[in-house]
Amino acid sequence: MAKKRYLPHCSFCGRSEQDGATILPSPSEEAGICIDCIETAAGMLGMIPESDQDATIARARANKRGGAVAAKPAENRPIPKPAEIKAYLDQYIIGQDQAKKYLAVAVYNHYKRLDQPTSADDVEIEKSNIIMVGSTGTGKTLIARTIAKLLDVPFTIVDATVLTQAGYVGEDIESLLTRLLQVADYDVKRAERGIVFIDEIDKIARKGDNPSITRDVGGEGVQQGLLKLLEGSIVNVPPQGGRKHPEQPMIAVDTKNILFICGGAFDGIEQAIAHRLNSSFVGFSTAAGKSRVDRENIMKHVAPQDLKTFGLIPEIIGRLPILTHLLPLDREALRRILTEPKNAITRQYVKLFAMDGVELEFTPEALDFIVDKAIEFKLGARGLRSIVETIMMNPMYELPSTDQKKFIVTPELCARQLESAHFDAESV
Ligand code: ADP
Repeated sequence: MAKKRYLPHCSFCGRSEQDGATILPSPSEEAGICIDCIETAAGMLGMIPESDQDATIARARANKRGGAVAAKPAENRPIPKPAEIKAYLDQYIIGQDQAKKYLAVAVYNHYKRLDQPTSADDVEIEKSNIIMVGSTGTGKTLIARTIAKLLDVPFTIVDATVLTQAGYVGEDIESLLTRLLQVADYDVKRAERGIVFIDEIDKIARKGDNPSITRDVGGEGVQQGLLKLLEGSIVNVPPQGGRKHPEQPMIAVDTKNILFICGGAFDGIEQAIAHRLNSSFVGFSTAAGKSRVDRENIMKHVAPQDLKTFGLIPEIIGRLPILTHLLPLDREALRRILTEPKNAITRQYVKLFAMDGVELEFTPEALDFIVDKAIEFKLGARGLRSIVETIMMNPMYELPSTDQKKFIVTPELCARQLESAHFDAESV
């Protein structure tokens, strides 16, 4: 029997060398263990001092959860210029020029602020946290993730919906700093220079205008808690997160230099913008084409007061001075997303097939068909992947057992595969 090819990853925590783990393969090369898991095991056997055990075990647990994006080690490389950051983002994200530009400048300034000499004069550059507004699936998380790849500061993504006010079921607000500490390998100084992306910030909007008698557990209370972090303060962070270990010693983290990037869909914010602009958007534009154009144009006018109308408290808005928007993806953008980004879904399949010695081609008509389906099912960019995956499932299953050397994806094949898989909008 042919020997199984060993893909270097830890058989215990699952991390690979790409995640920054150093792997020791077993003699048979069918399994491996990373240094962190070796340390954890050594700790359990009393082979490392007790004082070092907590951090080691917490680090291993964090790795196992895989909840955060691993950061590259700090190097003394030059600060990438805003245009370079934008050019890098352009390789992966279609359109959304304003958001990419704003993020590039903000990240560049973040680096410069971190490098500013202490009190050479009285001018202290303050950080400018960012908020991105745009429908779901338009690329907010993708932009944040892509920037993270370029950075040499710790970076993590947290979902605002899991955060609750202290004392309620859910995660304490401080737990988002736990994630940052984990990716910084518990190096507090590094974590204090990191970037946190808070997704779904709109989900913690205040519900309704009048304060309700039942407490607003997920809304205003969380915003108040978040405010402390955005403003910059010393926060006591549980190193392992959660409330299950009340005995764990807290780590003090200063959030003054942590850059916060928030993202949210803010569904329905167009009405607030339109109302403010006193435009004819509400009620009058009934022609289907026009209303889409209006939606696009209207998002360009998003302003801080619209976020307030939506239910963010003014103090939070004040702490997110850079406001940018992402536009809904139109047909042309969806078509480009299929083929143009460096890791576009069709490119990934071409590579997968090439590994089996098969040349894969998508005809232009097939690409149009896939885009049409994504629009028909209202799935947006997120749906493109599921549609292509469904179409390619049978060929992926059958082709490796044949000696076929070329495979062409046509609209007819797409239609057949989607039908046989009973694909519909609920399939995603
Ligand atoms: P959001 O955070 O805005 O809800 P995501 O960034 O998670 O959306 O996008 C979901 C997926 O859709 C991404 O992983 C990517 O494959 C695709 N996508 C969305 N917008 C774009 C874009 N502008 N360019 C390229 N791909 C995109």
